[in-house]
Amino acid sequence: MKTALQHLGDFRWNGVDLLKYKEEDGTFKSITRQVLLKGDQGFPIEMRYFEIGPGGHSTLERHEHTHFVMVIRGKGKALVGDEIVDLAELDVFSVPPQTWHQLQAGGDQPFGFLCMVANERDRPHRPTAEELVELRKNPSIAAFIRS
Ligand code: MN
Repeated sequence: MKTALQHLGDFRWNGVDLLKYKEEDGTFKSITRQVLLKGDQGFPIEMRYFEIGPGGHSTLERHEHTHFVMVIRGKGKALVGDEIVDLAELDVFSVPPQTWHQLQAGGDQPFGFLCMVANERDRPHRPTAEELVELRKNPSIAAFIRS
């Protein structure tokens, strides 16, 4: 992997493939992934760029690993724990371990963000039926989540 990636325009970088967000299923909508940087043992971190199209969203999930996120394109919202956060360019947030999260594009522009994670990480968990019932007890979360 290269150490310096030239921006080619339109949030694409030289030598970086445009990937599916995930291999599985319909728990998300209109989202792409680019792996920009991946460190080695001394710094075992990946920096990825995700982009959600208008009306799209990421999977509602939680896991043991942490995310560090910086928005770099457009506007959107995120559920993080029991908060729904409005997001615009250069806003930053983290998703702590075992915290429910989902990102959604806002408006009619793509919503793009950098997301850093550890190279070694556990697989995300989707909410069970019981956990969904629990999440939906909060009316603003109930109105927000897509699954
Ligand atoms: Mn996640």
